[in-house]
Amino acid sequence: MKKIKVNLDKKLSASHEIYIGYDILDRMVLIIAKILPALHHIIITDCNVSAIYGNPLLERMKKMGLKVDMIEFPAGEESKNIKTTLDIVERLLKLGADRKSALLALGGGVVGDMTGFIASMYMRSLPYVQIPTTLVAQVDSSIGGKTAIDLPEGKNLLGAFYQPKGVFIDVKFLDSLPEKEFNNGLAEVIKCGIIDDEKFFHYLEDHLDAIKEQDHGITEKVVENSCRIKKGIVEIDEREQGLRRVLNFGHTIGHAIEAESHYTISHGNAVSLGMIAAVRISAKLYELPGEDQKRIEHLIETVDLLSRIPQPISTEGILSRLKTDKKKEGDTIHFVLLKKIGMPFINGGVPESILHKTLEELKR
Ligand code: ADP
Ligand code: ZN
Repeated sequence: MKKIKVNLDKKLSASHEIYIGYDILDRMVLIIAKILPALHHIIITDCNVSAIYGNPLLERMKKMGLKVDMIEFPAGEESKNIKTTLDIVERLLKLGADRKSALLALGGGVVGDMTGFIASMYMRSLPYVQIPTTLVAQVDSSIGGKTAIDLPEGKNLLGAFYQPKGVFIDVKFLDSLPEKEFNNGLAEVIKCGIIDDEKFFHYLEDHLDAIKEQDHGITEKVVENSCRIKKGIVEIDEREQGLRRVLNFGHTIGHAIEAESHYTISHGNAVSLGMIAAVRISAKLYELPGEDQKRIEHLIETVDLLSRIPQPISTEGILSRLKTDKKKEGDTIHFVLLKKIGMPFINGGVPESILHKTLEELKR
């Protein structure tokens, strides 16, 4: 098992460790007992994850003499709302959770975002740990302390920065993950390769087959490297005031496509399309080398992520959603673009004609 320290500004939050390895449940429980001392631990999870990993975790914690309970809710993004949040809060109250209690978020991004949000608010905040079980959550959403729930008006509109006491990544959890969900996570992994380091991008190109077959050793390396990239960025810019925005590479157009498809296109596929759009805009406006464009598009295609926008989704629809993006400043949407692989930058605004042309290209 490896330990990666997340060094945070003491004035904002406490630093903590990311623990990562294959089949680490037993050691995880020992460490949790130490770093998350509480009179009452409550595992929060969704019904799919609870059926596979909830009871093993619960039993191990009970064996250690800890007082532990589990709350589960229906799986899926539809649950990441106020109603389910209040429902979980009510169940916490019924279980007698108080300020000496602590929470464990066991699941994918939905569980992590919502549990972190509840931890930041319940009785003016409780300590918590992240135990991510999807690839998206292991390489992206469990690291960095972003917590949120969705509102009818949009995703992640209600939330807080609230750091966990630790993140426990057991790559073995991915063995049961459906391929579609694994591919979703690969989009974030590819994003890390594009924005951080050509070497890692090259590693992904070289180990594509092993990654797709979910070879344990390679998967662990890929997850570890992606985590290091994300934590490195979070350390420099915990509250997303500058550098952390590069993590949104592919996400501005990606979110617009996701919403325009009424969420029938998965986050990973939408981000892949967003990344290809950003790459093409970078080639048009900033002379991104043709070779880099080819390599990125090829990698996305070979892992079976979407590289063309499906027909029913209109360019106008995507453009109008971009105009209401929540990260917009004034009238300008800042895009993360690329000078070359490993060298992203924040651009001050892309002319609508270029956006239009690029999106139209992706429909062919
Ligand atoms: P994400 O992590 O992609 O943001 P979710 O939290 O909604 O998304 O998880 C995606 C789906 O995968 C959910 O249905 C969830 O119950 C399921 N899931 C999460 N982890 C695992 C796992 N390790 N094995 C099988 N299914 C899982
Ligand atoms: Zn994402």
